[in-house]
Amino acid sequence: MADWREIFENTSRLLNKEILKFLTGGMVRATRRSTELVRFSVTVGASLAQMTTFRIGGVAGLFVEPLDQKSLESFIQFLREIGSPWRLLGGGSNLLVANRFFPEPIISLRRCASFIEVMSETDDVVVIRVGGGVKTRTLLNYCVRRGLSGCEFLAGIPATLGGAVFMNAGTSDGTMQDIVDSVTVIDRDKGMLKLRQGQGADFHPLYRSSGIANGSVVYDARLKLRKNSPEKIRGKICSIMKRRLATQPIGMPSAGCVFKNPSSDLPAGLLIDHCGLKGFRIGGAEISRKHANWIINTGGASYNDVVTLMALIKDRVYEQFTVKLEEEVQCWD
Ligand SMILES: Cc1cc2nc3c(=O)[nH]c(=O)nc-3n(C[C@H](O)[C@H](O)[C@H](O)COP(=O)(O)OP(=O)(O)OC[C@H]3O[C@@H](n4cnc5c(N)ncnc54)[C@H](O)[C@@H]3O)c2cc1C
Repeated sequence: MADWREIFENTSRLLNKEILKFLTGGMVRATRRSTELVRFSVTVGASLAQMTTFRIGGVAGLFVEPLDQKSLESFIQFLREIGSPWRLLGGGSNLLVANRFFPEPIISLRRCASFIEVMSETDDVVVIRVGGGVKTRTLLNYCVRRGLSGCEFLAGIPATLGGAVFMNAGTSDGTMQDIVDSVTVIDRDKGMLKLRQGQGADFHPLYRSSGIANGSVVYDARLKLRKNSPEKIRGKICSIMKRRLATQPIGMPSAGCVFKNPSSDLPAGLLIDHCGLKGFRIGGAEISRKHANWIINTGGASYNDVVTLMALIKDRVYEQFTVKLEEEVQCWD
């Protein structure tokens, strides 16, 4: 086990002094053209295990929550200028994080992009703008209240809007690309950009991938939804949740499906099940007995337990079916 107290004591030595100065002493950022007030909430030494649904992970040296859009943009620009890497954390529901110290800033949008607003409305269609830090549960509650249909497939997916767009999250009931009209992105190199979907568009989502570069920030998205009765929308959400509870180990620490389905008629779970691996365990990580494509943390599972189990699954499935499984879960090693 890592000695976290020692790691905490060494935290300030391990962190980038320039970044600390920007976030603390340098709250007022002077550029050649202007001086601007930038505001952040900063946690030094935040537990990543507590911020991920797998409940696995080490320590974020700097967990940074910009308090508004300007501060987020300014921070990204600063990190770009000094050549520092960074990472984005949404709901932590598709992440397997190593049990180590992460010196690079981990950025969350939950404070600066937590808005939902109506952009336009016709007799049957409503376009809403949703901040990247909004939780799917909050979005679904809003949609039920306002009688907006289209997001129901997100029931049981514990993501943020930003993470859901980035991963093009979805199920057989629908995916983000079905409802996204456009996305505002802070691009690593080009700054703020609006990506549109449709003909001649620059937003080309694929299966479980938005095509947006790693490190680019999904700041918000416009979603095109249809008016419907709150009762019908609530009913659909309830039936999706009922199905999930019957077939998936909901409530256990996990990251949902670990591998992508090789094709729509060849689910990864079926292949793993046919290898007889349900219930197989390494350390605290276990292949769910309810759904073979889910690995659950039965308590105290480490990053290495899960990674070793994933490698074993890939080997067995390849030996038996000559199919190469591809990870859906993202690993921060
Ligand atoms: C119980 C459970 C059920 C699930 N069911 C499904 C399902 O049915 N379908 C499905 O597709 N997935 C499912 N998942 C996986 C997961 O919820 C999705 O992949 C989701 O899109 C991840 O969103 P997040 O906000 O949690 O992102 P995170 O896990 O925090 O991050 C995932 C990736 O997105 C990046 N990211 C996060 N926020 C942003 C942002 N604002 N801008 C740019 N990049 C960002 C991160 O850097 C990381 O690379 C499930 C997970 C769990 C735990």
